[in-house]
Amino acid sequence: MDKASQDRIQKLHPSVRDEVTTIVNECNAALKGRSQMRIAQGLRTFAEQDALYAQRPKVTNAKGGQSVHNYGFAVDIVLIIDGKTASWDTKKDWDGDKVSDWDECVKIFAKHGWSWGGNWASFKDMPHFDKIGFSNWRILSTMKRDPKTNYVII
Ligand SMILES: [Zn+2]
Repeated sequence: MDKASQDRIQKLHPSVRDEVTTIVNECNAALKGRSQMRIAQGLRTFAEQDALYAQRPKVTNAKGGQSVHNYGFAVDIVLIIDGKTASWDTKKDWDGDKVSDWDECVKIFAKHGWSWGGNWASFKDMPHFDKIGFSNWRILSTMKRDPKTNYVII
């Protein structure tokens, strides 16, 4: 896995770091090399979320604290093709095994208990995955946080 993904995983909620590491490694093994999965985004601080919310044209309806990313339980992925080109193509079968590479990743995330933004009813967020059981920011926002690390205590 690339350094960027490793660094982003190390900022996720401590309880999911090992699991996401396993997921990325499993995806990259399944994708057989031509495309490789990168964690494009993991933890977003409340301040970063507020900055995103202020962007025009609008990119999100979520203010600081209103995204599962703000608690480190969500990741966004991108495929890196031939080690250099980012791709968000969810249909392309780079490894020629009759399943799109994106779908291969979706299946591996699902196996580990992560839900996919591509299944959302209204606004589909294809690169997004969050950990089942921790995918409701309203609940997360009421949980106690570790004063040292700021992660919610689970
Ligand atoms: Zn996301």
